[in-house]
Amino acid sequence: MSDCKVVKFGGSSLADAGQFRKVADIILSDPERKYVVASAPGKRFKEDIKVTDMLYACYEKAAKGEDFEKDFSAIEKRYNDIISELGLELSLEKDFKRIKDSFEHMAGRDYAASRGEFLNSKVLAAFLKFDFIDPAGYIKFKENGTFDLDTTIMLLRPRLAESEHAVIPGFYGSMPNDTIRTFSRGGSDVTGSIVARAVDAKIYENWTDVSGFLICDPRIVDDPAPITTITYQELRELSYMGAGVLHEDAIFPVRTAGIPINIRNTNKPEDMGTMIVASSDEASRYVITGIAGKKGLSVINIEKDMMNSELGFGRNVLRALEKNNVSFEHMPSGIDTMSVIVATDALKPVQQSVLDEITFRVHPDHLYVEDDLALIAVVGRGMRKNRGTAGRIFSALAHARINVKMIDQGSSELNIIIGVSEEDFEAAVRAIYEIFVLTQDQ
Ligand code: ADP
Ligand code: ASP
Ligand code: MG
Repeated sequence: MSDCKVVKFGGSSLADAGQFRKVADIILSDPERKYVVASAPGKRFKEDIKVTDMLYACYEKAAKGEDFEKDFSAIEKRYNDIISELGLELSLEKDFKRIKDSFEHMAGRDYAASRGEFLNSKVLAAFLKFDFIDPAGYIKFKENGTFDLDTTIMLLRPRLAESEHAVIPGFYGSMPNDTIRTFSRGGSDVTGSIVARAVDAKIYENWTDVSGFLICDPRIVDDPAPITTITYQELRELSYMGAGVLHEDAIFPVRTAGIPINIRNTNKPEDMGTMIVASSDEASRYVITGIAGKKGLSVINIEKDMMNSELGFGRNVLRALEKNNVSFEHMPSGIDTMSVIVATDALKPVQQSVLDEITFRVHPDHLYVEDDLALIAVVGRGMRKNRGTAGRIFSALAHARINVKMIDQGSSELNIIIGVSEEDFEAAVRAIYEIFVLTQDQ
């Protein structure tokens, strides 16, 4: 393990010149903070638009052959304002020109989006007087579009070793034919993790706008308590279920190397944030570690007498989904019933074809779809040791007059998944938070 730290700053941490100054103070206050991964400028205020979204919109116009001059000028202004307020001797005019030309020549949506981090990292590198490393030559994807960790580490490691200090744009890399490819939204977190792995960092600090991973979404519960320590596995469950702080794939590159991730707040650097570690003997303060959830789900309900004795029943149902390119989220089942939970967006365009295929393959007695479902995951390593967690969840929800549509406990006893109506989602999260956190603090 080396003695350096990799730091990643998210969009709101780099949204304007004031934020750039905070970021520079944080980096320069610790000589071990040598490699910096930067996002595109995010929102400066609630109604503001992230540069990444501006780039997508702009490219869409370009691709339709429409005039995008005005939209592009607004993007240029975001950077020029930062540059002038920081008093930098830097001009991005040549880059702007090249990017506009590439838009006209259909360089692709991923290329367009990636320019947000590319330009912001150039500004940050100039401000810090660090080297700038373009990940296009080092972070590689495979022909099928999935990320290629082995090739990336092989290329990136020697390049990073050449720079004492460097800024690396997050969010993108390139395909074997060198066209730009991005990770999914929020992907700068993944880049940070890759860089941490490549230099074998002693820690990966992920700086954002909240003081760590909070027990639940601060947009649902006011000022939720932060989680001090969380395991990779718990975090995976929570991020997959929608806790947006860290990209769900940001765990993999550091996990095998055992590099801890520390989520920190750029606006409150004195807070210690959340440590994400391989395993923890430290008892969590509460029975649960966190709560997360998502809306926009549908349930395909399948009923058939004696289905459990029919060989291959489940496989046939899943084949029907697979044939239509729909992946499933959960599959709770009873003796004569099976429910498959899928994203509504993915199901709707092919719903009839999925239902026909299921009918053809398994001849159910009843088959129907229910929409407007939300899933909530209650996650915690402490649940194994504490009996009655599910009971407490049920009574809290019953007390709040919320109807539970489904419950599914993972065999690892690390999580309990609860299905409720979309309209009950926020109230349900609050009720669960209250029973496990607020009442315990009293
Ligand atoms: P960045 O731009 O730094 O990558 P993100 O917007 O991707 O930041 O993630 C931070 C945001 O995640 C917070 O501002 C908060 O609104 C949201 N969030 C959702 N769930 C949680 C949670 N459980 N803990 C902390 N933040 C959460
Ligand atoms: N800028 C990209 C996005 O908005 C990537 C990131 O912020 O991590 O999704
Ligand atoms: Mg993010």
